[in-house]
Amino acid sequence: MQTIGVIGAGQMGAGIAQVSAQAGYRVLLSDVDQARAEAGKAGIAKALGRLVDKEKLTAEARDAALALIEPVADVSAMAPCGLVIEAATEREEIKRAIFGNVGKVLGADAILASNTSSIPITRLAQASPDPARFMGVHFFNPVPVMGLIELIRGLATSDATVAAVEAFGKSLGKEIVHANDAPGFIVNRVLMPMLNEACFALGEGVASVRDIDTACRLGLNHPMGPLTLADFIGLDTCLEITRVLFEGTGDPKFRPAPLLVKYVEAGWYGRKVGRGFYDYSGAEPVPTR
Ligand code: NAD
Repeated sequence: MQTIGVIGAGQMGAGIAQVSAQAGYRVLLSDVDQARAEAGKAGIAKALGRLVDKEKLTAEARDAALALIEPVADVSAMAPCGLVIEAATEREEIKRAIFGNVGKVLGADAILASNTSSIPITRLAQASPDPARFMGVHFFNPVPVMGLIELIRGLATSDATVAAVEAFGKSLGKEIVHANDAPGFIVNRVLMPMLNEACFALGEGVASVRDIDTACRLGLNHPMGPLTLADFIGLDTCLEITRVLFEGTGDPKFRPAPLLVKYVEAGWYGRKVGRGFYDYSGAEPVPTR
């Protein structure tokens, strides 16, 4: 598995390509076209450059990692890959089309893995060339910083596939956890109800934005409060995942908080648009309620 493929050179794909190259793998990186793949690599060069500036990485190590990353125009270049990780936009039809295309060139032993946050692995596996060699490999954002990978096996995933992807994840220095193919896997299953509950509490007037966040930060010893975290993740993403939990389980305990729905309808998606539960237009975030 010395050559891996990464499909999607956005936030997650670039991070996965970066940590893989830093671990010594040759990486073929694709996106919708060559230019986007090149842009992904340029972003990685910047990120590695910042590590060099902070003296966390030597210039030689940066150059060695960059030399291992080859942007390619499309997935037809991925025939030599022992493992291909798909990290494209979270839309099922996009992922299905990618699997069909990459399936035409993948070797008989090659493994295909998806970084999806919310689409059932067993269902996605149906579009892959071989469901036994398909699984979920869920990295966290930002990939170079976050130490966890959730591995998700579909119904048909083989033990050999799980073992190979686990060995790969460990070789990146990540901690591995195993989850079954259930909505939200582990982290989002536990996290999203907490963020959603914070939205319920705010909407019901239990406390202010500042007090909910301060209470959870200091009372639970969390590094940041749930409303700050929801703004950081993106309220649209939080709502999307909460809906996946609600629809996937049918359990009313996962119903989205009305205030969260309202904020998303207003386009107040959080930090990325400058407004969510906080206003980010000034030097410091200001609570809005
Ligand atoms: P992103 O928008 O930053 O990147 C997605 C990339 O996929 C874009 O560069 C886009 O051009 C590319 N793309 C779209 N269609 C493509 C195609 N047909 N072929 C190749 N590339 C294509 O999104 P992201 O945050 O990097 O998310 C990617 C995946 O990772 C999603 O499945 C998402 O659910 C998952 N994920 C995201 C996070 C997160 O916090 N952002 C965390 C874990 C998992």
